[in-house]
Amino acid sequence: MTIFLSPPDVRGPEAEFLLAALASGWIAPQGPDVEAFECEVAGSVGVSHAVAVSSGTAGLHVLLRCLGVGTGDSVLVSTFTFVACANAITYLGATPVFIDSEAESWNMSPGLLYEELESRARVGKLPKAVIVADTYGQCADYGAISAALAHYEVPLVEDAAEALGASRFGIPAGSFGSGSVISFNGNKIVTTGGGGMVLTEDQELAERVLKLATQAREPAMHYEHTEIGYNYRLSNLSAALGRAQLCSLEDRIRRKAHLRERYRAALQPYSDISLMPVPSDSLPNYWLTCLTRASSTDNCEAWLSDLLATFAAARVEARPLWKPLHRQPVYRGAPRRCDGTADSLFQRGICLPSGSGMTDAQQDIVIEIFLTFLDSL
Ligand SMILES: *Cc1c(COP(=O)(O)O)cnc(C)c1O
Repeated sequence: MTIFLSPPDVRGPEAEFLLAALASGWIAPQGPDVEAFECEVAGSVGVSHAVAVSSGTAGLHVLLRCLGVGTGDSVLVSTFTFVACANAITYLGATPVFIDSEAESWNMSPGLLYEELESRARVGKLPKAVIVADTYGQCADYGAISAALAHYEVPLVEDAAEALGASRFGIPAGSFGSGSVISFNGNKIVTTGGGGMVLTEDQELAERVLKLATQAREPAMHYEHTEIGYNYRLSNLSAALGRAQLCSLEDRIRRKAHLRERYRAALQPYSDISLMPVPSDSLPNYWLTCLTRASSTDNCEAWLSDLLATFAAARVEARPLWKPLHRQPVYRGAPRRCDGTADSLFQRGICLPSGSGMTDAQQDIVIEIFLTFLDSL
């Protein structure tokens, strides 16, 4: 039996919701579950508009396009995150500019962001937008980030793909951006099997996202098109699955917090191991429990590969932290403002199995393997 990193957790009314959708005759593309899912997610995040799309990546792509990003533009983006953030920029012919993390939350450093904006403002090359990822289910420091962006009048895209249910300063993830994106991929805290949502307070922006996500169809009886759109809508069946999953979001977060607490307690005696830091004003959804080995320790690279090999041999899925996007071969040479923080996290850290469906007994196996490894050093 394999213990996965973050597999789908399907223990609720999923079958019931799916069968009801099938029986209703609404399969795809539209249907009442899509609208209901949009309302429910918008309600839970506290924003007025939501557009369900076929993936988080699709959401980022169409949202950037609606913010006017195009050929020749620059978009600043977190380097310590999943490649989808940068790809959405590249799809539009724009250039991603990678910004490093702060040690306090592992998210985009407001200081480095400010420096980059300042130096670009001086030469009249402000970016078209900034994408900030909420890494591992924890919101970035939007107090400082939003202030910097407001100063330079650059729109914020919040990539809250991993962060549904998290909050910062009591404000929910997915509500910080001019537009924000959530993912319902299979490894996320709530899944539709594959899907995403664009969230915004801006009704015009929401309508534009919806239009471009439905092949840019004009209002007419026949098919009329005056611009290029995408086939990016979520199917009604997927939305029904998402609605069933959403019922237990609070339980899932509680369960993930519980797993993190058990990891923390077990690892407490090992002073060179630290979990991802959580600032006092941050409430993560604890999507993945992540940790680093102290930077003062020797041979981190060998330590990390031995640890990962030990887990793999026991059929436990653990992973390195995000490889910074500015280190990805496909983005070699891309502009960046980096100070080594993300590089260091990647060299020293791992993600542990954190599925909300994992039992305490399964977690005990993971912990025992880990402690045995640490004690053998
Ligand atoms: C999962 C993820 C995405 C992409 O979402 P998909 O639904 O898989 O397309 C984008 N950004 C981040 C940070 C993610 O974790």
